[in-house]
Amino acid sequence: MQRVESEVDLDQILITEDEILGCLARMGKQITADYDGKDLLLVGVLKGAVMVMADLARAIDRHVEMDWMAVSSYGSGTKSSGVVRILKDLDTDVAGRDVLIVEDVVDTGLTLSWLVANLRSRGPSSVRIASLLRKPDAMQMEIDVDYVGFDIPNSFVVGYGLDYGERYRNLRCIATLGEQAHE
Ligand code: 5GP
Repeated sequence: MQRVESEVDLDQILITEDEILGCLARMGKQITADYDGKDLLLVGVLKGAVMVMADLARAIDRHVEMDWMAVSSYGSGTKSSGVVRILKDLDTDVAGRDVLIVEDVVDTGLTLSWLVANLRSRGPSSVRIASLLRKPDAMQMEIDVDYVGFDIPNSFVVGYGLDYGERYRNLRCIATLGEQAHE
């Protein structure tokens, strides 16, 4: 793994920008093929999925619509509880639509399993999930992620949309934080 020299508070780059873009290009090609003739609605989860949505949507070679949800997970500190509140709902009626949820990372899976159930209750044709990252060792819910970019270890990562205290979202790669950044 490459050390990050220029950013003192970052520790290591886990996934480079080139690796991310290559992966999303392949994912987009697969989605283009899988949704042939379908009416695809991409649903991004704010704010973390903004970068994934921007690059994945442009890697899909067909008409897509995009919409956004913002949810907040009730819980203690950084721990996900699975109890979710909608901060911003979709503008789109998903009834009869093929919905693809676009996520940055599936950690415990609690937020996503709630979101899938919530969207399914609105009568869509299908609901699938695309996530750039997945932490298999952190998952507490059996959840099928249909398109996965990278399986990563169970550690806290930032960059490419993912934040620590609202910072690092604009980092082009995915990295772990050094000790100083947590203080
Ligand atoms: P889950 O309900 O799967 O545990 O939580 C998923 C959400 O927690 C993600 O959408 C993301 O906002 C946040 N999250 C989980 N792991 C990380 C991480 O390693 N880094 C950052 N920045 N956020 C994370």
